Amino acid sequence: MKLHFLGTGSGMPSKQRNVSGLGLTLPKQTWLFDCGEATQHQILHTSLKPRKVSAVFITHLHGDHVFGLPGFLSTRSALAGTDPLTLYGPKGIKKWLEMTLNVTGSYLGYPLTIVEYRDGDEFLQDGHRVTVKKLEHRFPSYGFRIEAPIRPGTLLVDKVKALGIPNGPIYGQIKQVETFEFEGKTYASKEYVTEPVTGPVIAILGDTVPCENAERLARDADVLVHEATFMEAEAKLARQYGHSTTVEAAALAKTCRVGQLIVTHISARYQGRESEFKAEVVTAFGNSHVASDFDEIIVGD
Ligand SMILES: [Zn+2]
Ligand SMILES: [Zn+2]
Repeated sequence: MKLHFLGTGSGMPSKQRNVSGLGLTLPKQTWLFDCGEATQHQILHTSLKPRKVSAVFITHLHGDHVFGLPGFLSTRSALAGTDPLTLYGPKGIKKWLEMTLNVTGSYLGYPLTIVEYRDGDEFLQDGHRVTVKKLEHRFPSYGFRIEAPIRPGTLLVDKVKALGIPNGPIYGQIKQVETFEFEGKTYASKEYVTEPVTGPVIAILGDTVPCENAERLARDADVLVHEATFMEAEAKLARQYGHSTTVEAAALAKTCRVGQLIVTHISARYQGRESEFKAEVVTAFGNSHVASDFDEIIVGD
């Protein structure tokens, strides 16, 4: 899995940071989380391909998270994207998007399914479980927990060979059955296969103040992508606008024992003060990274 940061600023674009957009490449699919204005321009500078994007998840309907969506969806069509796309978003996204596409005479040459999720929903997309929970913001905002499928263990070839079983199709079958037979004897497969491997867990949260559902989504995640619009000195502003500070994002990462914290959605007021901003996050939670546009971060192996 790889995260592709397309926009890491809050509210409005700056020369350094575009508004929210995040790509996630999985073994078979590419997903997008939020699609602020000019996300498609940012994609041009990456290895991502719009027609390969099979799912878009929108955290909330604030403009800095969705104004790039009609353009992105139309371009995907113009680039001969014909595979279906599923759009997950909060209530209201269907009305807004359909009206925008209709009024502008935009035609999509692929099946678009719009799913308006609710708090607590769970979806299976490409074998990955995606859990949605409502956060606390000035406007209904949500977060996602993405759990990769459990992978079967690997065959202990030497142990199987020791039974006298010659190499053949049975080597591939042992992992898929509970028991297998050889020369009249029955063997339990689990004795001959390593433990199943749980895939990485990523939590990607929309704009929020610290809240219980954020904790639920982030619990023991390998990677937590969390907003930190403000530094701790501006905690009052953070509360006023329904956002988190660097220290609050780090505290959540600590409480939830996440592997790595990546902060994003950073106010343009900190331009030129990047090292100060970073120091505040890293001091509060060691394994932290302050995302910049075009950062790529590998999750798992
Ligand atoms: Zn925002
Ligand atoms: Zn917002």
